[in-house]
Amino acid sequence: MADLANPQNTIAVLRKYQFHFEKKFGQNFLIDSHVLQKIIRAANITKEDLVLEIGPGIGTMTQYLAEAAREVVAVEIDSHLIPILEDTLQGYENVTILHQDILKVDLLALAAEKNNGKPIKVVANLPYYITTPIVMKLFETQVPLESVTVMVQKEVAMRMQAGPGSKDYGALSLAVQYYAEPYLAANVPPNCFMPRPGVGSAVIRLTCRRQPPINVKDPGLLFCLIRGAFQQRRKTLVNALSHFEELSYSKEELQRAVDGLGKGPSVRGEMLTLEEFAALSDILQDKKE
Ligand code: SAM
Repeated sequence: MADLANPQNTIAVLRKYQFHFEKKFGQNFLIDSHVLQKIIRAANITKEDLVLEIGPGIGTMTQYLAEAAREVVAVEIDSHLIPILEDTLQGYENVTILHQDILKVDLLALAAEKNNGKPIKVVANLPYYITTPIVMKLFETQVPLESVTVMVQKEVAMRMQAGPGSKDYGALSLAVQYYAEPYLAANVPPNCFMPRPGVGSAVIRLTCRRQPPINVKDPGLLFCLIRGAFQQRRKTLVNALSHFEELSYSKEELQRAVDGLGKGPSVRGEMLTLEEFAALSDILQDKKE
């Protein structure tokens, strides 16, 4: 099969099917073989692996994945792309295309059926409009995952790997780092895509942890505190949490709990590590018991 990473071949396929890009589906197709090779290398794909690809487009990265992996399941929402994928991927017997919205796919059932419940690898050039919902679904459904190697907007990649005190640090950094270890594999400029996106992109690999890096009595409360702390990030932590409608602690209770961290009364959430959020969560949890 012709290498779709060659822009001439991509244009030929788009013309043949009179395909029109749908902005609402975040369609920016990769047309750079070096970037595709970097993604495959970063994801460490072997012939043992089941790879879940989210949003295969016209199948450019799917071809690379099919060469490297044992099996590929590619989930695409746009019905116009399904006949194209059947054409461009016809030479690959190890690829299954699912015409579905990734946010509605039963990932646990998929991992059980296709990989005997063993950890799968996710690789994707993600539709940027739903990056966070997709990444959080992958982590929160507890589907067995080895790693998630994805192209995302550059700013999002920075947020995923940011630490306390940085302007990029926030709820996404803490959520991602609770479940995985991030590694920035490549920066990718707009001219590697068709059409060119209006933002820079980056490939980030999230290697999933077998155990969370911290112990916390109630992860639900931990994530609620994190959301509350960053909803109004310029406020002190106590003020932000006391105005957060999902929590029902008094300001005095919150002040005492924050004092227990020894970081001073006017500390902001953006200065706390995951360990400190976990400690705060356990102090507040003890008050409930
Ligand atoms: N993988 C292709 C490539 O790299 O050339 C296309 C990547 S493009 C950035 C994102 C793809 O995700 C598009 O094919 C788009 O139709 C698809 N997509 C968008 N929303 C989706 C959803 N909710 N579920 C599954 N696929 C989706």
